[in-house]
Amino acid sequence: MSAIYNEQQQELAEQIDGNTSLKHWKDWKWQLKHSIRDIATFEKLLDVEFTTEERTALLETVEKFPLSVTPYYLSLIDRDDFRNDPVFKQCIPNSQELTVGAHDMADPLHEDADSPAPGITHRYPDRVLFHISNVCSMYCRHCTRKRKVGDQDFIPNRETIDAGLDYIRNTPQVRDVLLSGGDPLMLSDEYLDWILSELDAIEHVEVVRIGTRMPVVLPYRITTDLVNMLKKHQPLWINTHFNHPREITASSRAALRMLADGGFPLGNQTVLLAGVNDCPRIIRVLVHKLVQNRVRPYYLYQCDLSEGLSHFRTPVGKGIEIIESLIGHTSGFAVPTYVIDAPGGGGKIPVMPNYLISWSTHKVILRNYEGVITSYQEPENYQSVFCDRNCTDCHLTLKLDDANEYQSIGIEKLLSHDDDAISLIPEDNERHQRRDDDEVE
Ligand SMILES: *Cc1c(COP(=O)(O)O)cnc(C)c1O
Repeated sequence: MSAIYNEQQQELAEQIDGNTSLKHWKDWKWQLKHSIRDIATFEKLLDVEFTTEERTALLETVEKFPLSVTPYYLSLIDRDDFRNDPVFKQCIPNSQELTVGAHDMADPLHEDADSPAPGITHRYPDRVLFHISNVCSMYCRHCTRKRKVGDQDFIPNRETIDAGLDYIRNTPQVRDVLLSGGDPLMLSDEYLDWILSELDAIEHVEVVRIGTRMPVVLPYRITTDLVNMLKKHQPLWINTHFNHPREITASSRAALRMLADGGFPLGNQTVLLAGVNDCPRIIRVLVHKLVQNRVRPYYLYQCDLSEGLSHFRTPVGKGIEIIESLIGHTSGFAVPTYVIDAPGGGGKIPVMPNYLISWSTHKVILRNYEGVITSYQEPENYQSVFCDRNCTDCHLTLKLDDANEYQSIGIEKLLSHDDDAISLIPEDNERHQRRDDDEVE
C-alpha cells in the first residue's frame, strides 16, 4: 500500500495552509477551499516557471476559460516533466484553447436546443440527462461544456430542480435519469438526498445514474456519510471519468472501493485526448487498472467539436486502432464502447473495427483479432417470425405486462414488419423538396 500522503502532497499542503494535517488534506471542503485558480499560484506551488511569453498567453486563456484545480489533483503532476504530464494537460490551460477551428461549435451536441425543461436534455426515447449542478471541483481543459465553465458557478435552487423533476414526473417514457452537471457530487449530501428521494418517488423511473469525476479529481468527496446516503437510493449506477492510469492512486482506489462496497455498479467514461492517452498501451493499462478496481470501462469518447478543444482532437482512426488492440486481446468486460457523440444532437454513435467481411444467403465471413478469416454457416430451416406486435398470438413468451409499447424509431422502423416505412429521408433532400414544391403548384 502506498501512502495516501506522499512527499509532494505534504509539501503542497504546507505551502497552502502552513502546518496542515492529513485530516485537512483529506477533507473535501478543505480541498475545494484551497483550489488553485491562477497561473502564478500554480507556478509557486509546483516550483516551476513558464516563460514570459507562455505566461502572457496563459493569462489570456484563463480570461476566457477559467482555471480551477484541487490541491489533490495538482499533486499528481510530475513537476520534473510537467509540460508533458497527462494530469497537467487536463487541468492547466493551454493557449491553443483560444484557437477556434473552422468546424468548432459552442454547443456541438445541441444540449441547449434539446432542452424541454430547465436542466433537462431529452435526446433518447427512454432516458434524460439532468444537469443538477453548474459547479465542478476541477475544470477539465477538455470539457465538452466548456462554454459554461465558470461563468455560472451555481447550484440550481429547488425551484429550478423542481421544474426538471416535474418534466420527468410528467414524461412516463423516462425510465432512466442520468444526473450530471457540473458534478452532482458538488451538492451537499442533504440536497442530493432530496433530489434522489424525489426521483425514487416517481414510479416510471427505474434507474438513476450519477456521472461524477470526484473519484479522479477529489476522491475525498467519497465519504462514509455520502455512501450511506446513496445506499438508500438503489438501484443507482455511478459513472466516473478516468483518462490515464496515473490518475489511479491510493486515494482514488480507496474512493472506488467504498463505492463498490456500497453496492453501486461502477462504470468509466474516458475521453480520447491527443497528448494524454492517444496510445493503445496507455488505454490498455488504464482499462486493466479500472477492472482491478471493480470499474467497468463503459465508453471511450471521441473528443467533441467544442470550441477550445481542437488541440485535444485525434483522428477517429486512433480510436479504432485502440479498440482493435483491445478486442480479443483482453477481457471482454475491459473493452469500452468507442463512441462519437454526433454533432447536432444525434447522440452517441458506436464505432468499431469491421469484423464482418462478407456474406451470402448461407454463409457469413468474419475475421478475428488475429486476422484469421472464418466462416459461419447460417441455419437452413430458420422460421422467420412475422411480428405485428401482437404478443398474444406469438409463441415466444413475454407477458404482455412486460412488453411496454413503444413506437419504433429510425433503422429499427425500417426493419420492423408492422411499419410501412421503406426509407428515411433527410429533411433537406433536394429531390423530395422538389416534389413538395410541385405539390404546392
Ligand atoms: C450520453 C447521454 C445519455 C445516456 O446515454 P447512454 O448511452 O444510455 O449512456 C442520455 N442523454 C444524453 C443527452 C446523453 O448525452
